[in-house]
Formats: sequence, C-alpha cells, structure tokens
Amino acid sequence: MILSPPGIIKPPKMIDSKMTQNPIPRTDPDSAVRDAFRIFKENGEPIRRVLDEFNIVDYDCKPFADDVYLYLPLHRSPDKEECSAIRDRLTSGILCLPRPIDNAEYFGGYVKNLLFQTHKKAPTVSDLLGFSVAYEIIGDIAVLDDKFTDGESDSEISVFDVADAVLTAHSAVKTVLLSKGPISGEFRTRDLEFIAGADTKRTVHKEYGCKYKVDLGRAYFTPRLSAERHRIMTQIADGDTVIDMFAGVGPYSILIAKSAKPARVIANDKNDAAVELLKENIALNKVQNIIALNEDALFLSQKYAGAGDHIIMNLPHNACDFLETAVTLCKSGGVIHYYAMTSESDLFESSVERIRDAAKKQGRKIEVFEMKNVRSYAPHQYNICLDVRIV
Ligand code: SAM
Repeated sequence: MILSPPGIIKPPKMIDSKMTQNPIPRTDPDSAVRDAFRIFKENGEPIRRVLDEFNIVDYDCKPFADDVYLYLPLHRSPDKEECSAIRDRLTSGILCLPRPIDNAEYFGGYVKNLLFQTHKKAPTVSDLLGFSVAYEIIGDIAVLDDKFTDGESDSEISVFDVADAVLTAHSAVKTVLLSKGPISGEFRTRDLEFIAGADTKRTVHKEYGCKYKVDLGRAYFTPRLSAERHRIMTQIADGDTVIDMFAGVGPYSILIAKSAKPARVIANDKNDAAVELLKENIALNKVQNIIALNEDALFLSQKYAGAGDHIIMNLPHNACDFLETAVTLCKSGGVIHYYAMTSESDLFESSVERIRDAAKKQGRKIEVFEMKNVRSYAPHQYNICLDVRIV
C-alpha cells in the first residue's frame, strides 16, 4: 500500500473528489490537519495494527471513511526506512488482508494535509492538579481516599480544589465525598464527609448490566470487586443454590440471579440498611429467584444446612469465624468461595489450613481448585479468594 514506490513518500497529486469535498466539517475549531493513510475499509483493522507497530497513528483524531476508503490520521510522517518497512510488512503475504492491496491503495495510500476532527479529551484530575489523587467513583459519587490530606502535595491545593478537579474531569460525577478513615466495624462502613456538589451519600451504581442502589454511609459497597463478582458468577451452574452469607446490597447475588440460572440465591446480611437496599435492588433489577435475609450468618445453618452448591463468604477480615457454618451449609461437592486479607509471606497457606480444619471437624475433605489474588489492599497485604470444593 501506502505508499509510493519503494522508499519514497510521494503524496498523490490529486485528492479524489470525495476528499476534496472533505467529509468532515472544516469549521470545527478542534479540527486538525494531519497526513493520513488511505486504505480500503475492509483492510482497516489489520493495516491499522501494522501501522501501530510503527507508532504513527494519531488516536487523538477521529479516522474518517468514505464509501471505499478509511483514512487513518498520522501524528508524524513515516521516514524513508519506515515506509519501506511498512511496505514490506504489507506486501509480505504473511498479513491476511480481506481485500488484496491494489495499485490504488499502494500508490495512493499516503496522503497529506487532510483535515481531521480531534477527540475532545477531558483533562484528567492529575492534568488539572499537577499531582495524582486516589479516589473511586461509585455511581455519580466520587469518594476521595482517606489518605488524601490537604498537606499531601507540596502545593496550596485544598480538598475543595481537588473536588472541583474531580467534578471537572468527570462530567457524570455530581457529588464528592471525603473518606475520613478506613472501612471498619461489623458492617464494614466508613465515615464520609460531604465536600462538593450535591449533598448525598445515595446513588445508583451500574455494573455488568445490573443497577445497585447504594447508601455509602449506611452499607458497604465497592466497585473494585466487579471483575471478581463476574468470575464467581461464571461458576454457577443451572439449577444451583447459592448462599451469599454476607451479601451487602446484593452485587454478587443479583448478578448471579440475573446472569446465571440458579434455582435460588439466598442473600443474607446482618446490616438492616444493607438488606433494605438489597430488597430495593432485587426489585430494581427485576430478579425473582432471590430470598433476602437479615440475619447473623452464623444462624443460616439452622434452615439451610446442606443446601448450598456455592457458598460466598465475602467478609474478608473475619470470614474465618464463619467457616464451620459455611461447611455446614455446603452440599457434598459444593464450593465455598472464601475471601481473606493476607500478607505477601502467607498469601494462601494459612487460609487453606483453616478451611481444611473446619471441614475436618465435620468429617469432610477439601479440594482447592482456585487460589486468586484478587487485589492489593495495603502495602504487602492482599485480598485473596480461595475456591474450595467441600467433599
Ligand atoms: N458482598 C457484599 C459486596 O460485595 O458488596 C458485601 C461485602 S462486605 C465486605 C461484608 C458484609 O457482611 C457487610 O455488608 C456486613 O454488614 C456483613 N456482615 C458482617 N457481619 C455479618 C454477620 N455476622 N452476618 C451477616 N452479615 C454480616
């Protein structure tokens, strides 16, 4: 393609009529003139990947297309050697192109001075502040990390300036809260101070096609486990009974009820506020096969002993205190998903031993089939999950 005869970049003398008509609005103030590669539309993706190897495509501009061609903007012109190398890659025959390159593409591929529309990139919080700030976004609320203090950066920037930067960088964020300490206590909640925007701790968070009403002051919720919840959901077989011992507002239970085909999900939490929201979320997501309970998980075995194909134990700081109950709840051949906070030096071993001991007390054995380091929690501390079959 590209290009001109070997080694020489020769822009086409005439730009075709569609180009002259200019497919993008010239009046756009953010438009930018760039050189471009013109390639057959069908060949767009494989050729773009080749061009990526040379790091010349300008992703700050939107490519545009006419009926036949795709025009890829370049942030710099390839030099003579690169042109030969690109040409060699494209004509080597290794590349499987949907449409064979013909002379039109080969000679006319490289075109100069086209007008592209630039992407409007919102500045990031660190662009605006000049330093980075830790925060998470839940629904339309941003929560600044508890380690953020006004004195943390060398500048005079206050928490209110940071909140302004967050509101500017994320147009969907309407509220900024400051976490005043770590997540703590039996219900795993945290103190949050209102900083800017709309004064609320309630929002709706969307994840994997589900919606969760959350109240960050009253019940636990983190978006950081979304991939982990999805991983567990994929293990649920049709007709399974799932017992979510520490369900919170329902992000495991509802995803499972909605995306897998369990016979039923028993979703339990001791925190009344969490269960209120769990019930609202069951209705919001229109899932039918969930039973919401508001009990101490230790009592679940009175009613559900031997009922669970999957037992979810997402209480990482003290799930170990509930292991015997979990084993009781688990069918023969069922699986416990056990979460813990562990240190680098003993990521999994002690947790496996704890589960083995709890199973042994009931004359049962364990088969560990997945040991997952879910995320880093603090320096040298990790949130892990063990998927363990209880036989
Ligand atoms: N699984 C939920 C999620 O991913 O958002 C919530 C996890 S949160 C880390 C742990 C939950 O366990 C909290 O909602 C807390 O209220 C609940 N909890 C703590 N002790 C409990 C107990 N003894 N029985 C039942 N729930 C309990």
